[in-house]
Amino acid sequence: MKTIEQIAAELQGYDPQALRAADVNEFLARLVAPVTATETVGLFEALDRVLARDVISPISVPPHDNSAMDGFAFDGAQLRPDAPLSLKVVGTAFAGKAWRGTVAAGECLKIMTGAVLPPGLDTVVPQEFTTVSGETVTIPPKLLQPGDNRRKLGEDLLAGRPALQQGTRLSPAACGLLASLGIAAVPVFRRLKVAYFSTGDEILSLGEPPREGAVYDSNRYTVFGLLKRLGCEVIDLGVVRDEPALLEAAFTTAAQQADAVITSGGVSVGEADHTKTMMKQLGDVAFWRIAMRPGRPMAVGRISGIKTASTHRGKVEASSRFNSDKCFADGPLQGETAPPGLRAAAHDLPAQVETARRGADSGGSAACKASEPHDAGSVGAILFGLPGNPVAVMVTFLAFVRPALLQMMGCTTASPPLLKARSAEAIRKKPGRTEYQRGTVSTGPDGTLQVRTTGNQGSGVLSSMVQGNGLIVLHHAQGNVAVGDEVDVMMFDGMI
Ligand code: AMP
Ligand code: MG
Repeated sequence: MKTIEQIAAELQGYDPQALRAADVNEFLARLVAPVTATETVGLFEALDRVLARDVISPISVPPHDNSAMDGFAFDGAQLRPDAPLSLKVVGTAFAGKAWRGTVAAGECLKIMTGAVLPPGLDTVVPQEFTTVSGETVTIPPKLLQPGDNRRKLGEDLLAGRPALQQGTRLSPAACGLLASLGIAAVPVFRRLKVAYFSTGDEILSLGEPPREGAVYDSNRYTVFGLLKRLGCEVIDLGVVRDEPALLEAAFTTAAQQADAVITSGGVSVGEADHTKTMMKQLGDVAFWRIAMRPGRPMAVGRISGIKTASTHRGKVEASSRFNSDKCFADGPLQGETAPPGLRAAAHDLPAQVETARRGADSGGSAACKASEPHDAGSVGAILFGLPGNPVAVMVTFLAFVRPALLQMMGCTTASPPLLKARSAEAIRKKPGRTEYQRGTVSTGPDGTLQVRTTGNQGSGVLSSMVQGNGLIVLHHAQGNVAVGDEVDVMMFDGMI
């Protein structure tokens, strides 16, 4: 496990006071590690979970050559480019029922969509293109090629070939694909546990009466939603007052229970509160000023917690339990041995944590210990100390925290690509920082994508996140945008 200092030393031109957005992603990618413990879940539970093994097709889909249309099946070698083809109908094949006759030259079989194509029949003419007279069907010339309207055995998935890769986040389509293979349950990585709390004495919880200078805690709800969308197990610690004892309790509780801790507020320069002090005291933390807007201040690192006997493992099981199912690629699951670097080095931990670590190490199941990055021996959590402003929280989450959490979830699915849209307005932008402006993307009169900002881009204007459907990403070196210029857009779809 690398320290903040070691990671910083690896990054060229690392300047914590003027960090580029791209460097933040690079830094976080080196800081975090995927969970390794796995559990087996049924397909209804598998949605949005991350697959823990490659899936090998146990069967072919479709399992037989079959008809893509309602029509007449025949041997396509009989087709002639210049003459109609007349065939005698010798039977009818229905989907789900085997048809056991033979079809000779000059004959055809009436066939329904999905019905198995008997050997020797490779072409289907849709019935609407034929003329039927008594038992004879006539197919016009130049309509078909041999093989038309045939679904070939294994054209979707071939038995013995990889169907899905480890690290895939299971979409509705992927769950359907697993079902098409007859697979009822799959090994997935355990859910990531993420604790979060808001800081600041001016922050009111819902239900508290308004008071002068105070604002309601909106970050609690945006962070909750963003984490839920990712499929994380959330640990909500509410608002934590600016008192060292309360902050310490919140940080240690969070670090004991969760893989990651997200806080909002209290990390700006000149911030008078105790949040930063406590982060420094309890962890290995870097405090950044990021060359971005909105956002700017952010704290990142590891926070230690004090291990208690009650660490909850839920339904997580030792990964060695699934190694027999032939659908899943052979070889040990990652969790079976602890990858180097997942366990906290003893010298990185405060004394009381180290005592707890040794205590916990002496008991419990070796398989579980080895497979859990957040478990005995690795007391602590990754810290994302986000700025307080509501839009800054969401933007830093989307730009930095989300990709890092996906990595921790074991997910290898690439982030959705940035779209290109033409700016319907001029946008002022200073080179030397990345800006994430809220925008509304729509289809312009010429059919191409266009984007317009939502207006006031203040980092507290949360309505801009509701109004817009994406972030206009104005890159570090980019300058002013003129009307009609192409800009990159990160759509919110499925994320916020
Ligand atoms: P800070 O980063 O603590 O300086 O906070 C920046 C701004 O964000 C201040 O105006 C805070 O009142 C506001 N803010 C901080 N936390 C929250 C929160 N949880 N909900 C709404 N606004 C917040
Ligand atoms: Mg504050």
